[in-house]
Amino acid sequence: MIMDDSTKVIKDVRPNTAASEAGIIPGDRLVSVNGHVIHDIFDYQYECEDTNVEMTVLHADGSEETCLLIKTEDEDPGLVFEDGIMDEYRRCHNKCIFCFIDQMPKGMRDTLYFKDDDSRLSFLQGNYVTLTNMSDEDIDRVIRYNLEPINISFQTTNPKLRCMMMGNRHAGDALKKADRLYEAGIRMNGQIVLCKGINDGEELDRSLKDLSCYIPYLESVSVVPVGLSKHREGLYHLEPFTAADSIEVIRQIEGWQERIYKEHGIHFVHASDEWYLNAGVDIPPADRYDDFLQLENGVGMVRLLIDETEEAMKSLRPDGRSRRFSVATGSLVYPVIKDLTERMKSLFPNIEVMVYPIVNDFFGEHVTVSGLLTGRDICGQLKGKDLGDALYLPESLLRHGTLTLLDDMTTEDIQDALQVPVGIVKSDGASFAALYGENAG
Ligand code: SF4
Repeated sequence: MIMDDSTKVIKDVRPNTAASEAGIIPGDRLVSVNGHVIHDIFDYQYECEDTNVEMTVLHADGSEETCLLIKTEDEDPGLVFEDGIMDEYRRCHNKCIFCFIDQMPKGMRDTLYFKDDDSRLSFLQGNYVTLTNMSDEDIDRVIRYNLEPINISFQTTNPKLRCMMMGNRHAGDALKKADRLYEAGIRMNGQIVLCKGINDGEELDRSLKDLSCYIPYLESVSVVPVGLSKHREGLYHLEPFTAADSIEVIRQIEGWQERIYKEHGIHFVHASDEWYLNAGVDIPPADRYDDFLQLENGVGMVRLLIDETEEAMKSLRPDGRSRRFSVATGSLVYPVIKDLTERMKSLFPNIEVMVYPIVNDFFGEHVTVSGLLTGRDICGQLKGKDLGDALYLPESLLRHGTLTLLDDMTTEDIQDALQVPVGIVKSDGASFAALYGENAG
């Protein structure tokens, strides 16, 4: 069977591998492995576990050839495909009332509007899935191939409410798929996007009670506040959480942490950093984060940054080195960065750091995280400011693996606009300390 599928085109063949020795070349298209049609990377990896692998490929001239690859059990055959998952990404079929993609202004790059809901990306990249477009066969495959952990956006365990929040009448039933994953012992992490007056309060209590029944396979649940941009014309009315609301949510979550810890020895449910920063209360100590399972989701990043910076400071010797530079950051984390620069002053009193909080005019004042800042806002707000000998920006505002921000401005564009060298800082304490000069950090 010949598949007309560009996702199976071989982009590269690594030298000195079973595939190169079998004569497979870039441009060939994979047809089957061991006689089985390959749907995606997981089928491929599963079939390639054998020591003798029969690979049928379609050459560019239209001829088909079956090659025998001889390799050891764990050895990769040596093929690199055009597409990482060897299949089209699955789109989501929901219309969530809180979807941030619906709140983005028009005219941005196309990829930013793509709504994925693909369990393979959950496994490969940590994306969150809703389970709404996973068939029973998909669940079978997750179990058969042991694709764990699977990250699940629950929002609520109330089936009716879940249907309403996700604009999908199957969203309530889809929760039963988590039962199957639990019964099969598949590790999971959960997320609840909290919307004021909708899935908070008693509904949140109900969700956390239900989800705690999935312990130990459900290893953590993060609760994150809904992100609200200013581009919500025609969308469901949602209110931002106030500082007082945030204190209430933290109190509720910490109550659950205490109860669950007593019973299971883990804290399990975590309020994202945003709640603590909004509330203006202290970030919990590191041991409350159970090995920081949801760092990528903004849970514990601030605690880690503070602890790592303090650790880096212990190995620094104070001196009189002198320098002036600036740091731009989202307004949410500004007090933390400001505080860390104050502490560093005790070691390097002659280093002056100007920390600038950038207000997100592009998405609106309620979007305060650094990762959603645009080049235009940074340039607009820093023009004419004292930036010292360099301006440092957090790595989180760059598109992965590039020097490009959300609005397609590059760090070079910012450098040209502000007439100052621009550097990028990773979000760890050692990188922050290293801003202070050689041997610092
Ligand atoms: S699952 Fe909901 S929030 Fe996620 S992309 Fe789809 S509509 Fe948006």
